[in-house]
Amino acid sequence: MRVRNKPWAKDYMAEHTERMVVEPEPLRGDWQSRFPSDQPLYVEIGTGKGQFIVEMARRHPDHNFIGIEIQMSVIAAALKLVVASGLTNIQLVHTDGVAVNTIFAPAEVAGIFLNFSDPWPKTRHIKRRLTSPVFLAHYQDIMQPKGQLQFKTDNRGLFEYSLTSLSNFPMILEGVWLDLHAATDGVEDVETEYEQKFSSKGPIYQVIAHFPE
Ligand code: SAM
Repeated sequence: MRVRNKPWAKDYMAEHTERMVVEPEPLRGDWQSRFPSDQPLYVEIGTGKGQFIVEMARRHPDHNFIGIEIQMSVIAAALKLVVASGLTNIQLVHTDGVAVNTIFAPAEVAGIFLNFSDPWPKTRHIKRRLTSPVFLAHYQDIMQPKGQLQFKTDNRGLFEYSLTSLSNFPMILEGVWLDLHAATDGVEDVETEYEQKFSSKGPIYQVIAHFPE
C-alpha cells in the first residue's frame, strides 16, 4: 500500500497515546492493562487503514484487538477510524510485525489475522512474506494453544505459497476457502479495504490454521 506522506500524522498520533502505542516492548506480557476489561487478545498484522479491526472490535465487544502497521501514514488513518469509533477494545501499534515475539509474551495472544498481506513475489524476498517460516515461528511463540491464524488474500500465488508454508511448518489447517465470498458455511467475513477493492476482480482465498499442541 503506497500512501502519500501525511504531515499531520505524527502530531495526531502523539495526541492519541490512549489508543496508539509506538514503543510496544515494555508492554510485553501486560497488554491487558491497555484495555478496560481483561479479554482474549486478537492481533492483526498489516492492519492498513483499520476498517477490518474496527469492525471486528465493534462486533466482538468481549474480545480485545490490536492492529499492527509498519507505515506511519497508514496507521494514522487507522487511528482516525479508531478514535471516531469510540470503541475501547482496540489499540494500534506502529511497528514491524516481524518482531511480534518481542512485543507479546508466550501465550498472550488468542488469535492472529493477516489480511491481504504484501505478496513479495520475488524469491529473494520470501522471508518478508507474513506467512514465511520466520514469521510463523514468532506467531507460535506468542499464541495460546489452539489459537487460530486466519489469512485471506486475493493473490493466488501468495495463497498457494502460504498453504504449503503453513502445512510444512507444521500447522494444522482447520479450513480452506477457495472463494470466500461464495461460502455457504456461515464463516464470518469482515471485509477489509483491499477486499472491497479487489473482490470484483476474482476470488478471495482464506485459510484458518493452528499450531499443534
Ligand atoms: N490489511 C489491509 C487490507 O486488507 O486492506 C491492508 C493490506 S496492504 C496490501 C498490506 C499492509 O501491511 C500495508 O499497509 C503494509 O504497510 C502492511 N505491512 C506490510 N508488512 C508489514 C510488517 N512487517 N509489519 C506491519 N505491517 C506490515
